[in-house]
Amino acid sequence: MPLDDHPDLQVPAHWLRPGMPAYETARRIWNGMHDRRPALIAPCGDPGQVSEALRHAARADLEITVRGGGHNVAGTAVADNTLMIDLSPMRTVTVDPVARTAQAGGGCLLADLDAATTPHGLACPAGVVSHTGLGGLTLGGGYGWLARTWGLTCDHLLAAEVVLADGSVVEATEDDHDDLLWALRGGGGNFGIVTRFTLRLRPVGPVHHHTGVYPLAAAQDVLAAYRDFAPRQPDALHTVGALKHAGTADWIPAKLHGRAALFLTAAWFGDPDEGPAHTDRFFDTTGPAATLVRRMSYAELQSLGDHGEPAGHRYFTKSCYPADLTPRTAAAFVTAAEEMPSPLSSIDFEYLRGAIDQLPDEDSAFPSRSAPYIFTASSQWTDPRQDAPNVAWPRRSIERLAPTCTGGAYVNYLHDEAPGRVLEIYGTDRHTRLAAVKKAYDPANLFRRNQNIEPTPS
Ligand SMILES: Cc1cc2nc3c(=O)[nH]c(=O)nc-3n(C[C@H](O)[C@H](O)[C@H](O)COP(=O)(O)OP(=O)(O)OC[C@H]3O[C@@H](n4cnc5c(N)ncnc54)[C@H](O)[C@@H]3O)c2cc1C
Repeated sequence: MPLDDHPDLQVPAHWLRPGMPAYETARRIWNGMHDRRPALIAPCGDPGQVSEALRHAARADLEITVRGGGHNVAGTAVADNTLMIDLSPMRTVTVDPVARTAQAGGGCLLADLDAATTPHGLACPAGVVSHTGLGGLTLGGGYGWLARTWGLTCDHLLAAEVVLADGSVVEATEDDHDDLLWALRGGGGNFGIVTRFTLRLRPVGPVHHHTGVYPLAAAQDVLAAYRDFAPRQPDALHTVGALKHAGTADWIPAKLHGRAALFLTAAWFGDPDEGPAHTDRFFDTTGPAATLVRRMSYAELQSLGDHGEPAGHRYFTKSCYPADLTPRTAAAFVTAAEEMPSPLSSIDFEYLRGAIDQLPDEDSAFPSRSAPYIFTASSQWTDPRQDAPNVAWPRRSIERLAPTCTGGAYVNYLHDEAPGRVLEIYGTDRHTRLAAVKKAYDPANLFRRNQNIEPTPS
């Protein structure tokens, strides 16, 4: 009897195999660099279906991958000849506006969460592109517009329903499986498959949003002013910068169209009428070529970055935490911008701290609370023949910055890394504790197709 016909190996009718048209769509993830072909794709709508997929993988001797939103730049959601557990059917969100909590399915996108919470004037702090998956983002940390005001997404994880490696389902809370909850808050997708996230929500209102654009020649001076300005602001002011090619929007002067330029944005999350008092001074003193000032809803803000990073393009990212924005570091930013091989690429940076740094370090596995700045060089291009220069550029940019960085990195922005990098990022004490949680919940390291933490050896 052919192996596939063996009764133990027969699979539910809605699972996808090579040759089925839906398989071709389901195997694709956001980063077009990863053209991989799983042996099977199991779309899972509830914890029971996830357990069934795990049982099948064990019987068929298949490694598994887990797909949340499919946005991980390293492509950890998909691998050749594996069983992909696809959580995308689990995108329901329910909100308790009185308790200010949300229950979100393990395959939600940030857009699903915002669509459910913002009509109540509430939001869970999360990332800045609405087609990102909540799962991977939360399990790795979760930076976003509200991080300085309220903290990371993982700081808002109150409980999680988790399918463990043995197929059993547990609810991790601060009272029960508290070690697992701690690890899920920033320790990555290592410990089980989260089928429901219970999240704390925060009040949000209209946002005062102020952007300035500067020619690249002015960038070094403006970055010096930014270094002076950003750390002295209230936590409700979040500032982000980007070095990228300017588009042709009406507000951008024609002389900058298509040229590498510096964009700085300050967003105020307090009373929007007070916003100008907090943002204007920086732009008045740094003399941008043009500014754009808007008041927008939080939901609008959350989808502002969506169009710039479409699914299917090719991406390669490297990131680090600069210890300071000294003139030397700023010069390295500018050199990286000058060397950008693709006009679709960008350098993104922001001043962090605020609530991220103030929340108790021991409550989560997240390792880098005190990092002042984050820097990311993201290559984006479309032609596979241009892979080599676009992969080389972020690597070179980070190598140049390395002597002025903390040595840590954000686990969700890791791409191809040297062995030992995950240990380096978490540090020995935190990594030892994570490895012990791993041993308790996934001793055979079933969940290993990620930025992996191996269980403590027996
Ligand atoms: C365009 C874009 C914008 C981004 N913006 C931000 C940002 O603003 N802030 C920020 O912090 N990060 C940001 N990121 C990074 C993002 O946090 C990571 O890419 C994250 O891994 C995405 O999660 P996902 O569920 O979409 O990924 P996937 O590729 O589906 O999964 C990534 C990893 O998480 C695991 N995983 C996913 N869901 C679950 C689950 N429910 N249970 C168990 N394991 C799971 C997977 O197994 C996999 O190993 C961005 C990424 C992109 C591509």
